[in-house]
Amino acid sequence: MPVREAAPVVRSAEPVRLPQAAADAVPAMAETAVRNSASQWSAAEKLDYLRRKNIGNCQRCKLSTTRKQIVFGVGDPEADLMFIGEAPGFDEDRQGEPFVGAAGRRLTQWLGRLGLRRDQVYIANVLKCRPPGNRDPEADEVERCSPFLRAQIRAIAPKVIVCLGRYAGILLLGRPTDTTLREMRSRSWRYVDPSGAHEASLHVTYHPSYVLRREQELAPGQRNPADDTVMSDLQQALSKIRVGAAAPQNS
Ligand code: SF4
Repeated sequence: MPVREAAPVVRSAEPVRLPQAAADAVPAMAETAVRNSASQWSAAEKLDYLRRKNIGNCQRCKLSTTRKQIVFGVGDPEADLMFIGEAPGFDEDRQGEPFVGAAGRRLTQWLGRLGLRRDQVYIANVLKCRPPGNRDPEADEVERCSPFLRAQIRAIAPKVIVCLGRYAGILLLGRPTDTTLREMRSRSWRYVDPSGAHEASLHVTYHPSYVLRREQELAPGQRNPADDTVMSDLQQALSKIRVGAAAPQNS
C-alpha cells in the first residue's frame, strides 16, 4: 500500500512554528498578532525570524558547548531547489556558512555543471552546529535540531529537496537509522511536512565528502564513478523543476 511518509524513527522535538516567540518574552496577545502578520511575510523574513528568534543562541543540545558558531543556511530564500547535508565541518564552523571548504567547492562545481550558481539554490544542514571532530550526528542532537530544519523547509517551500548523504534522507523520509544511501538514491521520493504545510519532491545522493574520499582511492586522471552518479541524481532532481513532473508516492 502506498505510504506518503513513514513515522520518523528519529523522533523530533516540539515543532517550530513561524513565528514562535518564547511565551515568557511576548504576551499571548502580542504573540498572536505576530503570528497573524507572519502569514504575509516573505520567505526571507520568515528565515530571518527563525534564525534570530527561534534559534538565537541555541543551547538545546550539547553541540552548543563545542561549536564556534551556528551555521544556519545560505542561498535564495525562495529557491526551488534546496540541498540538505549532514552537519557543519571544520571550515563551516569557522566561516558560518554551510558547504565551504573542499566539499563545498565540489558542490559548487556540481551546480556549475547544471548551469546553476550557489545563490540560486538554498543550502542547509540537518544540524546547525559542528559535531566535534566531524563525528556522525547523534540521535538526541538530530531530535533537538530537526524542527529548525523543518521550519526552514516550510519557509523556503522548495519544489525539490536534494539530501546530500544518508542522514538527511533518513530524517526527512522517516526511514530506519540503518538505511543505506544505496537504498534511498536513484529514485524520487515525496517529502511531506508533518504539519502538512508543505510537500516537495525529494532525492538522495552522495555527500561531496564521500565523493572526494572515493577520488583519493583512484589513480590520477581516473574517472570517479561516484561523481558521475551524483550528476545523474542531480539531473533527475532538476528535471522535476524544469518539467514540473508529477509528484511521486513513497513506498
Ligand atoms: S545543533 Fe541545533 S539544537 Fe544543537 S545547539 Fe546547535 S542549533 Fe541548537
